[in-house]
Amino acid sequence: MIKSIFDTYGAPILMAAFIILFILEKKFQLRRRVQSRWQRIFINFIVSIPSFALLRFLFIPIMVWLAFKNQQWHFGLNYLYIAPVWLKFAVAFILLDYSNYIWHILLHKLPFMWRFHLVHHTDLDLDVTTAFRFHFGELIASVFFRGAAVILIGASPVVVLVYEIAFETATQFHHSNMKLPFRFEKILNLLFVTPRMHGIHHSIVKQETDSNFSIIFSFWDRIHQTVRLNIHQDKIIVGVPVYADKNELTIGNLLKLPFSKIRKWKESEGVEEGNKNELKR
Ligand SMILES: [Zn+2]
Repeated sequence: MIKSIFDTYGAPILMAAFIILFILEKKFQLRRRVQSRWQRIFINFIVSIPSFALLRFLFIPIMVWLAFKNQQWHFGLNYLYIAPVWLKFAVAFILLDYSNYIWHILLHKLPFMWRFHLVHHTDLDLDVTTAFRFHFGELIASVFFRGAAVILIGASPVVVLVYEIAFETATQFHHSNMKLPFRFEKILNLLFVTPRMHGIHHSIVKQETDSNFSIIFSFWDRIHQTVRLNIHQDKIIVGVPVYADKNELTIGNLLKLPFSKIRKWKESEGVEEGNKNELKR
């Protein structure tokens, strides 16, 4: 099943999304870059290799196996009621996204998990390649939480695979440095996480990083009031203030980072006041 869904459809979709976003973000740039594009591509891809291998050969097989086991056990929310297949699919898809919103908050709030997620946030620019910059330790840890979510929701193997493809595509999209027409993005953002919204999550200002945790659907942040949209993109400095020296952010150091002494986030100046729900250019 993994081969027939993820490898046959997922891999080409993700590859096509990457190429399209890579071209568009060069042509229609949203935020100014502070680092050479090719240097970052190199770093982000090397860092992503172990994560990619673990995703395909450990994470996805475990999630699908759990979903199959769950079909035998009839455990989990979706096995507790009778409804059409499409409705159960939609419920599982939406709840999987909700579980990832919670997981993302835990990555920021639990000091042990922040050690790993920090590697992703140390990128000094934000573009489609940042979507791959994850420490493999974060992926291993996520197996437990996201596996539990699959069981509790009672997600079928097909939903698990389709959600994973959507999750990876959305991650590439909202990390991209692509400037969408403002009005279009504003409408799109009512339902989905967009590049301007996620850009604020990568700001060096702590209160801005502590917002916009959603992955696919943006409404989780609105429901939980963790949304912050009222920041102009040209005011955003991407990164973590205590890890801002690019000479320090080498491939070796990034892979070792979770196992080193983690620096405390240096307080930065206040944030914009006003309507947090209003997306700014
Ligand atoms: Zn984050």
